[in-house]
Amino acid sequence: MSSAPRERAAAWPAYAKASLACHLGAGVVAVAVPDAWPWAIGAVVANHVALTAGGLWPRSRWLGSNWTRLPAAAAARGEIAITIDDGPDPVVTPAVLDLLDRHDAKATFFCIGRHARAERELCREIVRRGHSVENHSDRHSHRFSLLGPRAMAGEIAAAQAALADITGEAPQFFRAPAGLRNPFLAPVLQRLDLQLVSWTRRGFDTVRRDPGPVLARLGRGLAAGDILLAHDGNAARTEAGSAVVLTVLPQLIDRIRAAGLTPVTLAAALHRDTLIEPAAPSAQARAEAHS
Ligand SMILES: [Zn+2]
Repeated sequence: MSSAPRERAAAWPAYAKASLACHLGAGVVAVAVPDAWPWAIGAVVANHVALTAGGLWPRSRWLGSNWTRLPAAAAARGEIAITIDDGPDPVVTPAVLDLLDRHDAKATFFCIGRHARAERELCREIVRRGHSVENHSDRHSHRFSLLGPRAMAGEIAAAQAALADITGEAPQFFRAPAGLRNPFLAPVLQRLDLQLVSWTRRGFDTVRRDPGPVLARLGRGLAAGDILLAHDGNAARTEAGSAVVLTVLPQLIDRIRAAGLTPVTLAAALHRDTLIEPAAPSAQARAEAHS
C-alpha cells in the first residue's frame, strides 16, 4: 500500500514558530525598552502557559495536527471509528474480539508496547481478525507529558518497534497516554511518520463502573466521522465483575448501525480512497480457477 497523503505538521509547527517569535520579540523589547521588561517577561510566561494548556487539553490542535474526527471523506462515507485503548489484556481483549466479530464491526486498538510484548499472540490475533493495532506508547507512563524530547521519542519508538515486530505492520497512528502532551511530541511523531489521534467522545470506562452513563456519553449525538474511545486495558469492572466495555460495545454498535453508520479502523478510514483495486485476473488465472 502506498503511503497516503495525510495532514502533516510542517518542519517547524506553527506553535513553535509563534513561541520562538514571542521569545525573540520579548528579548528585543526588553533590551530596547528597559522599562518594558516586566511586560516582556509576562509575554513569555503567557506563552508557556498557553503551550502547557495546549498539551493538557487532549483535543486541542495548538501543538500540531491532531485528529478529533475522521477525515471528511470517511465521514461522507458514513464511517465511524471505535478505538479501544490500553491493551492487549489477556482477559478482556479476547472477549472484545469475539463481540466485534459477532457484530461484524472493525475497531482500532491503541496498544501499550509493554502489554503487547507480554501478549504477542493476542496482539497478532487483533490484526488477524481485521482490526488495526496502533501505538499508545511503550509504558503508558502517567508522566508522559512531563518527558523531555529524548525520553518521549524513546517511549514512542520502543512501542513502534515492538508493535511492528509483533504484528508485521508498522502503526500509523499514535495516541498519547490520557491524551496529555507537550510541545516535544509533534516533531517526534513527524519523524516516526505517525498521525496523532485523540477522540470525539470518551466514555471514561476506566473509572465508571456503571455501563449506562458510559454508553450515554459515547452515544450522545452519534454522527458520521466520530472517533469514540473505550478501554480493554485498565477497564473498570461492573458490579457483576466484567469489564464495562463488554456491556457497552454491543449496544453502542447497535446504535451505530441504527444510525446507518459503519464502524471501520482508522487505517481504513485514511486509506480507502487511496487503495489500489486489485488487477482483474488474467485469462490463465480465470481458466485455472474454473478447472
Ligand atoms: Zn491509555
